[in-house]
Formats: sequence, structure tokens, C-alpha cells
Amino acid sequence: MSMTGLMRKLVLTAAGNKAVSGFFQKYGMRIGVQRFVAAEQLELTVEAVKQLNRQGLLVTLDYLGESVSSREMADEAADMVLRTMDAIRDHRLNSNVSVKLTQLGLLIDPALCLAQMKKLLAHAKSLGQFVRIDMEDSPVTDITIKLFLELFEQYGADTVGLVLQSYLYRTAADRKQLAALGANLRVVKGAYKEPKEVAFPAKADVDRSYIELCEAHMEDGCYTAVATHDERIIQHIIQFTEKKKIPRDRFEFQMLYGISSSLQLRLVEQGYRVRVYTPYGEQWYPYFSRRIAERPANLWFVIRGFFRK
Ligand SMILES: Cc1cc2nc3c(=O)[nH]c(=O)nc-3n(C[C@H](O)[C@H](O)[C@H](O)COP(=O)(O)OP(=O)(O)OC[C@H]3O[C@@H](n4cnc5c(N)ncnc54)[C@H](O)[C@@H]3O)c2cc1C
Repeated sequence: MSMTGLMRKLVLTAAGNKAVSGFFQKYGMRIGVQRFVAAEQLELTVEAVKQLNRQGLLVTLDYLGESVSSREMADEAADMVLRTMDAIRDHRLNSNVSVKLTQLGLLIDPALCLAQMKKLLAHAKSLGQFVRIDMEDSPVTDITIKLFLELFEQYGADTVGLVLQSYLYRTAADRKQLAALGANLRVVKGAYKEPKEVAFPAKADVDRSYIELCEAHMEDGCYTAVATHDERIIQHIIQFTEKKKIPRDRFEFQMLYGISSSLQLRLVEQGYRVRVYTPYGEQWYPYFSRRIAERPANLWFVIRGFFRK
């Protein structure tokens, strides 16, 4: 395993430790979590989205939370997503929403989660909005795709889309199945700690698979969200779309809030659609630890923030 891969595994393991999570939950907002999270409250998040929109950036809003263990928590999350959609309408934000199925009760009962999703998608459809289902760790890949297929059949590609991860061996086959239906996909490398039985251990393979998935999905004529900060891959995709004459309204770049912001703006200046995944809410810790794991150098920035206060 490479040094980067090892660091990533170590950070994700440490993140699961109760003492570590307790420390961050207590001091997080003091030490600069807001670099990655727009705000804890929806009202402040709306202002952050307006600011991004003014710069020509599109947004997808993520009400933070995952792996909920009670129906009440799943209900609360669904209500917040509905409120988020209303805020998008009321403030005329150029934004859609992203959701995680485990936040909507998937681990309690898939039927509960499906019912929550139907409620969200019915509302989204009535408002002309779009909902993207994030992809979580490999134990839920199968059920996530299964629920997506059921929802897709009812609501279609204009209302619901999915994420696939290039680090999983299975993804090429999953993409083919979804492309045959015309699904709108976001392609990511994958952010979870996965065993070598299911995911490529070498980064070079993850990157190669990433490019292959994006190219194949665009060549199949499906809308593709190229979600990465990897400049080499972004340049490759730009050249590919020019060569294959893929229209610029058939794909978009996506990046995370607070990461590679100047690259986001450069792409907007060049006339590309760029969407910023903008998380908000109090349950930021798991999201935050994945951002540290991707780039352990981010820890220095956190430590500096802590001692500066
Ligand atoms: C819009 C969006 C949505 C996502 N949704 C999902 C999802 O549903 N499921 C899922 O598993 N994963 C998701 N991810 C995370 C993704 O899987 C990767 O973990 C993450 O994007 C880092 O990989 P990379 O493609 O940027 O490439 P990398 O090769 O990891 O990084 C390339 C370069 O990007 C910069 N960079 C990357 N990460 C960071 C960071 N944390 N801090 C600072 N700089 C960084 C660095 O300059 C790095 O050299 C999403 C990512 C994006 C952008």
C-alpha cells in the first residue's frame, strides 16, 4: 500500500475512535471546520449559496448526517431536506440537493428509507428540483442501487440521480446497467475505508477506472457529473469532450465546498458548468474526517487553527 493510502486508512480508523470524535465535536467550529462546512444553520447556508451563485457556481446542498439509528432521526433529516428544497425555491438559489440513504433510515429499514425518498422526490418534482443520492460504503452499495432503480422508474432522470465510485471493482458493470436506462451519474473516486476484496488498493487503478467511467458514461449519451479536484483528470476530460464534441450542457464538474476554490472559478471562466457540494448542519464530524483522510495535510491547518484561538 502507498504512503498516502496508509495515511488515509489511519485517519479513517482514528476518526472512528470515541475520544477523537468527542474532541472534534467539542472544538470543531473553533478550529476551522467551517472551511469545509458552510454553516450549522440553514439561514446562514443560504447566504453562502447566494455568494457562490454570484460567482457563477452552481450548488448541491447536503444536510449533514448519516447512519441514523432511530425513526425520529430519519424523519428529522427528511424534514430538513424538504425545508432545504423550500429555501432553494424561496431564495431562487441555483442549487439542488444531495442526500445519503443511511440518513433517511436505510440501516433501520429499507422500506422506511424508500418511503422517505418518495416523499422527497415528490416534493422535488413538484418544484422542478433534482435530488442526487450520494454513495456510501460498500455494505450498502447493492441496496442503494436497488432503491435508486425503483425511484428512477417512478421519477426519472430529471428528478433523481446517483453516485458511483471508481475505486470499486463492481462499478464498471453497475455503470453499464444504469447507462442503459439513461441515468444521470456523479462519478467520484470513493471516500470510505474499503478492503482490497472490493476496491482497488492502488491509486493509479482508481484514477484509471475514474477516467474510463466518465468517458464511457458521456459516450453513452448520459449526463455526467465529473466530481474530482484532480487537475490532471479534469484537463483530460476537457480534451476528451472537445475531441468527442460532447456539448457542455451534457456534463458538469463538481467539487467540494472550500476545496480547490480557485480551480472552480477558473473553470467557470472557461465556460464550464461547475457545481459546489455544500454541506451544512451540526452532524459534520464524519464528513470532516473523510476530508482529512483524503489529505492529511489538512490536519496542520486544523492544528494551527486550534492554537491560534
Ligand atoms: C462533489 C463531490 C461529491 C462527492 N460525493 C461522494 C459520494 O457520494 N461518495 C463518496 O464515496 N465520495 C464522494 N466524494 C469524495 C470523493 O470520493 C473523493 O474522496 C474526493 O473527491 C477526493 O478525491 P479527488 O477526486 O479530489 O482526487 P484525489 O486524487 O484524492 O485528489 C486530487 C487533488 O485534489 C485535492 N484534494 C482532494 N481532496 C482534498 C481535500 N480533502 N482537501 C484539500 N484538497 C484536496 C488535492 O490537491 C489532491 O492532490 C465526492 C467528491 C466530490 C468532489
